Amino acid sequence: MRRNNLATILRRLHLEGQTTRSELVAHTGLNRSTVGALVSELKDEGLVVEEPGSSGSVGRPSLAVAPRAESAVVLAFDFRVERVVGAVVGLGGVIIDRVEHTHMRAEVSPAVAIRQLLSISHELLDSVPQDALWVGTGVGVPGIVDPRDGLVKQAPNLDWVDVPLGKLLSQALRDEFGEVPFTVIGNDADLGALAEHVRGAAAGLRNVIYLSGEVGIGGGVVLNDQLMSGAGGFGGEVGHMVVDPDGAPCRCGSRGCWETVIGLDAIVSCLKNGNADTTVADVVASAQAGDRDTARRLDAVGSWLGIGISNLINIFNPDVIVLGGHLSEVLPEVRKSIDDKVSHAIRASREQVHIVAPVLGVESTLVGAAESAFVPLLAGPIEALRESSSFLSS
Ligand SMILES: [Zn+2]
Repeated sequence: MRRNNLATILRRLHLEGQTTRSELVAHTGLNRSTVGALVSELKDEGLVVEEPGSSGSVGRPSLAVAPRAESAVVLAFDFRVERVVGAVVGLGGVIIDRVEHTHMRAEVSPAVAIRQLLSISHELLDSVPQDALWVGTGVGVPGIVDPRDGLVKQAPNLDWVDVPLGKLLSQALRDEFGEVPFTVIGNDADLGALAEHVRGAAAGLRNVIYLSGEVGIGGGVVLNDQLMSGAGGFGGEVGHMVVDPDGAPCRCGSRGCWETVIGLDAIVSCLKNGNADTTVADVVASAQAGDRDTARRLDAVGSWLGIGISNLINIFNPDVIVLGGHLSEVLPEVRKSIDDKVSHAIRASREQVHIVAPVLGVESTLVGAAESAFVPLLAGPIEALRESSSFLSS
């Protein structure tokens, strides 16, 4: 009971930032003295600070409670096909430091990936205050992952099959830093969905679909506030929904997957006379400048996008569909093509849904990786602190 109440208060502070004791009383439904005792306990652990708040219109001012970003930190990684972004994130979701390394698609064997993650971990941990506790590490990868043990079953765009990334990374971190906290590996789109659900475009909404537009198309589905996992944790791979049985071969081994018609390659090839360096921004600029060929091809991509989205609307009845990565870049240009197709979806569902760009921009997966690493601390603050690595202060 007490553990749950502590967790509820810390989670509220982590997600909402500074608040007052009165607001915590209202949020938890607990009485004032209980909230006061719980806040004191979190204060004793160094997780929160309390200072006199601004006075309200009547009565004495309520104390303002705020999470201490530098008290507990996680390492978060967004491992992509062509680059890796790492951040050290403090309690309250504060990004304390962030680094980014690029790599070639063909170069990223699992061994190279582990070396990159280790080297970035060193860089990031160097910027953390000495008394901070490292409470977890979260990594997003563009592939099908078993989140229980971090086994990457298949990452077609990295050419990885059955890579035990969770075990390899935990071992490598232990070899490097000694005792290390909880490590979790997740699918990039699942983490994007998690982030947009708790801090982004879908905050306060219960049913969310997030599409990651990286090289391929990943999907993360939140239903009734829970991430949909499927029997093995591999569910939500909407990028491999077959939309054109006679279409192009997909890297997953199938043919005509949604990813083949709305993925990065499909979009950059909208530009006539494009080359290997063509970007999504080039395509959008060309369409906006009045190039009819580019605009027509981009409209076709928008139609495919609308067809897939209509299927998702009919199946899941989501509150919101968030288009991440390159999909958010083309969204303003293809909005009409999407809407034309979505107008054929089941009316009751289509009238409820919003199709939006991510509030967290390109950081959704990174933020989701951080949130997944904070899970043990937010579920049981005291126990998690006892188990955390104190090596930073040694
Ligand atoms: Zn496929």
